Amino acid sequence: MDDTDPRRSIPRTDRLLALPEVITAGEILSQSTIKAVISEVQSAARTREIPVAEVVPTIISRLSSRSASSLTPVLNATGIIVHTNLGRAPLSESAQQAVIDAAGYVDVEMDLETGRRSKRGTGAKQALLRACPGAEDALVVNNGAAALLLAVTALRGTKAAGRGGEAGAGSPIGGGEVIVSRGELIEIGAGFRLPDLMATTGSRIREVGMTNRTHLDDYAQAITADTASLLKVHTSNFRVEGFTAAVEIAQLRGLADEHDLPLIADLGSGLFEPDPSLPEEPDIAGALAAGADVVIVSGDKLLGGPQAGLILGRSDAVQAIAKHPLARAMRTDKLTLAAIEATVANTRNPVHEALHIDVDRLRDRTERLAGLVSGTVVGHDGRVGGGGAPGVPLPGWAVELPEALARVLRLGDPAVVARVHQGRCLIDLRCVPEHDDDRIAEAVNRARETTRRHLGGIEPGDARTDHLGGHGADHDEDGADRQDDAGLGDHA
Ligand SMILES: *Cc1c(COP(=O)(O)O)cnc(C)c1O
Repeated sequence: MDDTDPRRSIPRTDRLLALPEVITAGEILSQSTIKAVISEVQSAARTREIPVAEVVPTIISRLSSRSASSLTPVLNATGIIVHTNLGRAPLSESAQQAVIDAAGYVDVEMDLETGRRSKRGTGAKQALLRACPGAEDALVVNNGAAALLLAVTALRGTKAAGRGGEAGAGSPIGGGEVIVSRGELIEIGAGFRLPDLMATTGSRIREVGMTNRTHLDDYAQAITADTASLLKVHTSNFRVEGFTAAVEIAQLRGLADEHDLPLIADLGSGLFEPDPSLPEEPDIAGALAAGADVVIVSGDKLLGGPQAGLILGRSDAVQAIAKHPLARAMRTDKLTLAAIEATVANTRNPVHEALHIDVDRLRDRTERLAGLVSGTVVGHDGRVGGGGAPGVPLPGWAVELPEALARVLRLGDPAVVARVHQGRCLIDLRCVPEHDDDRIAEAVNRARETTRRHLGGIEPGDARTDHLGGHGADHDEDGADRQDDAGLGDHA
């Protein structure tokens, strides 16, 4: 570059670091992040992507829009309530407040009266026991998968535990066979398989029955001196229809008693009590009443809380799990404990509200949005998602827009994630807080403006990429998990 090249005058890093706005950004962002932004913008000026005069304003605007975390808050306009790719359950306001309150030093393991160490997670446990009087004890661990791993590892029947002496409760290795119906051997999401998880504990899965039918006798036949436990898994993210048979928890209880075996029920989602709108979704109270020794659920599915695995049930079983050495590796942090306690104490939360939304109100909101953005109202079924209630449509509506808007909406501010389906962009307001309807309308109108300006610049492949990135990306996850054409009910 010659002397007259304006790129010679790109401001130097030390000068940029001394700008008051950059110094202020240092209160939230690390110096390495700030330096990375500065260097990015300087290179953009060097390659003439931006004019030199834009270097300072660009750096200031990029730094001010950066939050301390790279996670971008999004408005979920997919109609999928528990969307794994979008962080599953959004926390209630009280749970969010609880997280903030617990963020500093808190008495998570101290009795302030005596100043001595106290039991961790007592508040969360008490809230869980109040919400589920059928449980004698409760334990919160990292997630559902951890809870299952721990329960299977720590709970072993007297036969398996008795063999060889040293392999009793408290052994880091589980060992023994866990009997489970073939129809319940599930892939939880993203290639994550239950049998593989179990194998890491040293336990072996003994599959019984057929994919569509399993009878009590199949379990009975499989019990040997090596049997460690009976496991019942709620097949939450798929459903076998037609000629099917499954053995209920109550029937398994008799068999478990006969052979002195623990009975573990992994319910996946977390309803404390039956919900009439989800008739096939098992509930914790019901599973315990039917005779499960422990019930396992996730905190961030239908329960509407943070990521966590909840173990509820008989006190001897929960205590054996809590005392297992592996439990320490799956311990939850204070933020989760705070959020679980707040979520359980008040059952009204965004997940519950989206599930029980007033459909007339949803229709009014959808029509209003359609008017504001010149879109069309179409019938659209929402979904529970997160592996809950597969195949249960949640009738509602969406605003239909051209597919090309979906990507622009995702990349906008606020980021709006719509559903991309059959060449259309569908905005479902079920999971959008009503006070954000106007932000969605503004975002759509801005996105329309952007696509209009860039029209012609769109690559032919964009629509396809968009489709994969929009909905296809989560096809193998339990968050979206709807067949490409299964979710659209064109009911009026
Ligand atoms: C979701 C699910 C799990 C895994 O729970 P995470 O909290 O995601 O670890 C385990 N079992 C069943 C039946 C599930 O639905």
